[in-house]
Amino acid sequence: PSEVRPGGEVSLTASVGVRLVPPSEADADVLLRQADQAMYTAKAAGRNRACVYDVERDRVAEERRRQVGRIAQAIAAGEMRLHFQPVIDLHTEEVCFAEALVRWQPAGASLRAPDEWLPMIAHDPAIARLGDWVLEQALSQGVSWLARGLCGGLSVNIAALELRDPEFPDRLQSLFARHPRVAPARVRLEVLERAALADLSTVTRTMQTCRSIGVDFALDDFGTGYSSLSFLKRLPASTLKIDRSFVETMLEDAGDRAIVKGVIDLARAFGRVSVAEGVESEGQLAALRALGCELAQGHAIAPPEPAEAFTAWLEQRRAAAGQRRVPASGDD
Ligand code: C2E
Ligand code: MG
Ligand code: MG
Repeated sequence: PSEVRPGGEVSLTASVGVRLVPPSEADADVLLRQADQAMYTAKAAGRNRACVYDVERDRVAEERRRQVGRIAQAIAAGEMRLHFQPVIDLHTEEVCFAEALVRWQPAGASLRAPDEWLPMIAHDPAIARLGDWVLEQALSQGVSWLARGLCGGLSVNIAALELRDPEFPDRLQSLFARHPRVAPARVRLEVLERAALADLSTVTRTMQTCRSIGVDFALDDFGTGYSSLSFLKRLPASTLKIDRSFVETMLEDAGDRAIVKGVIDLARAFGRVSVAEGVESEGQLAALRALGCELAQGHAIAPPEPAEAFTAWLEQRRAAAGQRRVPASGDD
């Protein structure tokens, strides 16, 4: 190297990859590839060391690659489905949002919930293709609900990787160009609290660009990440979604009820909207109302359903609300 002067000292380190096999299994190409892989593991672990090739780890990595490939294929093959769940105003009972929730329908098998497979593609480019598809579908399906005034907005989950992609706002803009009947202000993107905190400056910048297009943000599963107040102050998200795990036990567990109350009060103090997720009982609905929570979603209101069933639910709800209003106002 240029900085070495005559008589100076040069310090070298080596990273070594080792593959041990009985001679009967020796296939030179495979051995070299595996030893190479072990060498990269040694480098990744900080260099200046030797690593022995790990058969089990390779098997796990290979299996993972296979599964990611299978999911990517499923996205391309049109095996994804979108379900919708209403988010209602706890005080006016209005349907404020329809949250789009993805499912996988493998041919000839049962429907698979996202928690089973979505995390596997969290770091793969396939997640962005899925995200684009979800947004496209949500807007295509949701436009008529918005136009008919059946619900106020659409809420779509996006992955951390999408938010770190500097081209995401451009993709969003072309999405709205393809759907001119959906105003960006009607769309809210849900970002996991812990994902938003992972790469704060990039994420904040992307969120701000998206905000300038008109879309809004919610921090999903709030309370499960660091819940840092200075981050909360900086992140341009209008809404905090209280994680289902706290709502589930809020009637029995004083600590969880305190967390729910804490998030509701925090949201109010920061001028944000609070949403309770996973509300399963009338008791929880009443308790949330009493604590001043603004919006809620959960099986006590309606489970996520395919677009057709969700449309029927919206229509039924509007009809019921109309009937309730007639005697009071005397018109309509
Ligand atoms: P999330 O965004 O927090 O969505 C709420 C989850 O709670 C959904 O699970 C919903 O079905 C479930 N849920 C709603 N009400 C109740 C209830 O009363 N009781 C119970 N036990 N559960 C309820 P789901 O649909 O399985 O989705 C799981 C997670 O997967 C979502 O959590 C979200 O983080 C992620 N996800 C779903 N769709 C997408 C998507 O299109 N893109 C991305 N990036 N993530 C998605
Ligand atoms: Mg969500
Ligand atoms: Mg959530």
